[in-house]
Order: sequence, then C-alpha cells, then structure tokens
Amino acid sequence: MSREQDELMRRGIGMTSQRTRERLIQRLYEEGLSNPHVLEAIRRTPRHLFVDEALSHRAYEDTALPIGHNQTISQPYMVARMTELLLAAGPLDKVMEIGTGSGYQTAILAQLVERVFSVERIQGLQDRAKERLSELNLRNVVFRWGDGWEGWSALAPYNGIIVTAAAAEVPQALLDQLAPEGRLVIPVGGGEVQQLMLIIREENGFSHHVLDAVRFVPLLSGPLA
Ligand code: SAH
Repeated sequence: MSREQDELMRRGIGMTSQRTRERLIQRLYEEGLSNPHVLEAIRRTPRHLFVDEALSHRAYEDTALPIGHNQTISQPYMVARMTELLLAAGPLDKVMEIGTGSGYQTAILAQLVERVFSVERIQGLQDRAKERLSELNLRNVVFRWGDGWEGWSALAPYNGIIVTAAAAEVPQALLDQLAPEGRLVIPVGGGEVQQLMLIIREENGFSHHVLDAVRFVPLLSGPLA
C-alpha cells in the first residue's frame, strides 16, 4: 500500500474510536482467524464508510448491516473467513468477486491480491461501491454490472472466485472460469441456512470441501435491477 493510500485509510479513523476497531480485530483473532494480512486489511479499512451514516456507529460490530435494496454488508467475521479460505494456499493474482454490494469485501480483497474483478446485479449499489473504492484510492478493481450466475467469461480464468450471496447450486459458469488450482469460495443452499464450500480445480476435476453453516442473502437470477 502506498503512503498516500495509507493516509486515506487513516483519515477515516477519526470517525470512530481506534479502540472499537481494535476490539473487532481482537475478537476475530479469538474466533480463530489468524492470517495476519487479512486481519491487517480489516484493521485499516474504514468499514463505516461502507454503510449509511445513520448506521456508522455500528460499523465495527461483528454483524451484517442493511445497505439498501434488501441487501446487507457482510459480517466482518465472514469477510475474514472467506478471504482466509481464498488465500490459504498462497497469494493470488486474479480474483473475481460475485456480489459487490457495498464494496467492503472488494476493498479487503483489493489490498491482498493483484487484481479484483467484481460483478454486481444492482447498478445503484455498484455505483456507490465504485465511489468508495475510488475515495480509498484502491485502483486495482474492475466492476461489471451483470449476472453473477454467468461470471465474467471474457476475462477468465481466475485464480480465485468468491461469491458473497448464497447460490441454490454451484453455478457451472464459475467452475468453468476457474484457473488450474483455482479456488472458489461460495455459500451453497436454497434455504435460510447454507453451507460454505471451498471448491478447488484439481488436475482431474474438482475437490469439494464443505465448511461452516452460514446465512447469506440469495444469489438472485432474472433481470438486472
Ligand atoms: N460483499 C458484499 C455483500 C453484499 S450482499 C458486502 O459486504 O457489501 C450480496 C450481494 O450480491 C448484493 O449486493 C446482491 O445485489 C448481489 N447479488 C445477488 N445476486 C446476484 C447475481 N446473480 N449477480 C451479481 N450479484 C448478485
């Protein structure tokens, strides 16, 4: 991160007490998240800029919060957990994110991987996310207004794909767009509670790892909004 970027991140800190933010990091650590790069990215990312001002006093609670359009900004624990899973085999170059939402997960990824390709179906959310990342001077992100079920084939393959909404089943297009040894982290299931899965492209097919029980808003299909 450049000094200029660091300064921008720091400026946000005045809004909420540094102690509140440190408490969140401490809590994530105690819950078993231990990748220091991921924790550091969360420590310096001003989450209060990703929610409405009326909710900014709650931005460093470990909870999902509404962001409009019936969507939520993911819980910091889940952002950290999914990012750790994505990066567990080492640093990644090209990562696609499905479900930009507020752009918070995008901002974390942008600090940890070379390039992020982020797909969102609701244009209003995407526009705000773009503004926030630009304010934070995170320039290695490209946005696409589109349907995450289809991924972004023109720029495939990706070394990592992260989906921040629950898919009733694993989208075939996302499997197709994984590079060799590529990793897909995705909540799967049609009910209120889903299974977080890690899927890895191996030499002869895919390995599937069923992990935590999680709660995400659904990965929708149909016309874009
Ligand atoms: N990571 C985001 C989470 C947003 S919630 C954050 O922390 O803010 C899930 C997001 O997925 C919503 O913005 C929703 O609009 C988006 N989404 C749902 N279905 C989608 C689809 N088929 N394609 C792209 N984005 C989708």
